[in-house]
Amino acid sequence: MPTPLPAPYLVAASARAAALAGLDPAVLAQDDFVATFTGNHVPPRAKPLAAVYSGHQFGVWAGQLGDGRAILLGQLAGPQGPMELQLKGAGKTPYSRMGDGRAVLRSSIREFLCSEAMAALGIPTTRALVVTGSDQGILRETVESAAVVTRMAPSFVRFGSFEHWSSRDKPDELRILADYVIATFYPELSGAPNPYQALLQEVTRRTAQMIAHWQAVGFMHGVMNSDNMSILGLTLDYGPFGFMEAFDPEHICNHTDQQGRYSYANQPEVGHWNCYALAQALLPLIGSVEEAQEALALYQPVFAARINELLRAKLGLATAQEDDPQLFDAMFALMSGSHADFTQFFRKLGTLQVDAPAQDSALRDMFHVREDFDAWAARYRTRLRAEASVDAQRKLAMDRVNPKYVLRNYLAQVAIEKAQHKDFSEVARLLAVLEHPFDEQPHNEHYAALPPDWASHLEVSCSS
Ligand code: AMP
Ligand code: MG
Repeated sequence: MPTPLPAPYLVAASARAAALAGLDPAVLAQDDFVATFTGNHVPPRAKPLAAVYSGHQFGVWAGQLGDGRAILLGQLAGPQGPMELQLKGAGKTPYSRMGDGRAVLRSSIREFLCSEAMAALGIPTTRALVVTGSDQGILRETVESAAVVTRMAPSFVRFGSFEHWSSRDKPDELRILADYVIATFYPELSGAPNPYQALLQEVTRRTAQMIAHWQAVGFMHGVMNSDNMSILGLTLDYGPFGFMEAFDPEHICNHTDQQGRYSYANQPEVGHWNCYALAQALLPLIGSVEEAQEALALYQPVFAARINELLRAKLGLATAQEDDPQLFDAMFALMSGSHADFTQFFRKLGTLQVDAPAQDSALRDMFHVREDFDAWAARYRTRLRAEASVDAQRKLAMDRVNPKYVLRNYLAQVAIEKAQHKDFSEVARLLAVLEHPFDEQPHNEHYAALPPDWASHLEVSCSS
C-alpha cells in the first residue's frame, strides 16, 4: 500500500496523458484526485502492488532490485487501450532495500516533463499524468521536498522482470510472465513456431528502433541498466537523462557514470547488450542458443536502417543513396569539432538554400573553421541537387522532424527552482512549449536558446 504524505498539492498535470487514460483533465486538480495520486487515498477497487525485478546495473549483475518506490494502482480503460497507473515515490515497498521509497520534487518534475516531451517528439515512452507534492522533507544530499509522479504505460514490465525469475531458476514463473506479455501485448506472436524467440526478436527490433530515435534527437537516457529497459520498447525511467547540446559523441549526461558506459555514442551498443541480457533470461524458454542469436542478429540491421532513415529525414533527403552514411559521418565530425548545438544545427540546416551558399552565415557561424562547414555544405548541396530538392518543401519537411524545442537541462532547472518556491507556473508553461516541439512559437523563442553559463555547473545523477 502507498504511504500517505501530509497536505498534498497538485504540481503539474498533462491533459494529453489524461486523455490517453480516458480522464477529463479538469478532474486532475480536484482534491480527491490529488489524494489518490499521492497515495493518500486508494480507490476501493484498486489492489496496489509493487513488482519484483532484478537486473544488470552498469554492466554488472546487481541481483534483486524491484519496484523500490513504484506502486501500481491499477488500470484505466483509455481510448487506445488499457493504461496502467503507477505512483513513483509513494513510499516503501517490499523491494525498497535501503531506500526510503520516496522521490523528490526535482526528479519528479524532470520525469514528468521529459515523458511528455518525448511523446510529443513521437518517441515511444511511458507517460506522465500528474505530479503532486508535499512539504514533507526528504533527505538526499540536502533536504528536498517530496513528490509523487503518476506514470502511465500499457505495462511496466522490464527486461529485469525476466532476468529475475531466470536468475532464480524459476522456469514456471518465467513462463507465466512471458505468456502474459505475449498474450496481452504481442498476441500476433502466439502462433509463431517459437513464440519466445519471436518475443525476443520483436523486443530486439523495438529496442533498436527506440534507440535510433534517441540518437536522432540527441536524447541520452543516462542509466540504461537492463532493469530500465521496457519489454514494450518504451523509454522508461527518466532520471539523469539529457538532451545533447554542444555536440560531443562521448558526452555523458549522468554524473554517476564515470566510465561513460551510457554516453551518447555508446547507447546503440548498450541497447544491443541489454537485449543479450534479455536473451539470456529467456533462454530456458527459447530452447537453443542458436535461436536466441538469430533473434538478436536483428538488432544491428534494424538500428542501421532506422537511424539512416531518420537522418535522411533530418537532412531533408527524399531518396536513399549508398554513400549517405559517409555524408552523415562527415556531418557529425564537423559538429563534434565545433561542439555545435545539436538541436539548433538541425533546425537551422532547414534554412539552407541549395543555390545560395552566400546565405549560409547563420549555419557557418556555428563552426570554428567556416571552410570546413563550406566543404560539407558543398557535398550536401550536390546531394540535394541530385534529387532536385526544392528549398521551401524541404524546409517544411525538415521542420516536422527537427525539433526547435527540447527539454534542455537548464529549462527544467528554471521550472524546478520556481516550483521549489511553490510557483508551478513555469512547469506548465514549459510543458505547453514542449507539447509542440516542431512548431515555430514566436512568443517562446527564448525556450530554444543555448544554455546560459550557469547551466554548465548542472549535474544530474542516479535515483533521486
Ligand atoms: P533507478 O536507478 O532509479 O532505476 O533505481 C534502481 C532501483 O532502486 C529500482 O529498483 C528503484 O525502484 C530503486 N530505488 C531508487 N530510489 C529508491 C528509493 N528512494 N527508495 C527505494 N527504492 C529506490
Ligand atoms: Mg529504474
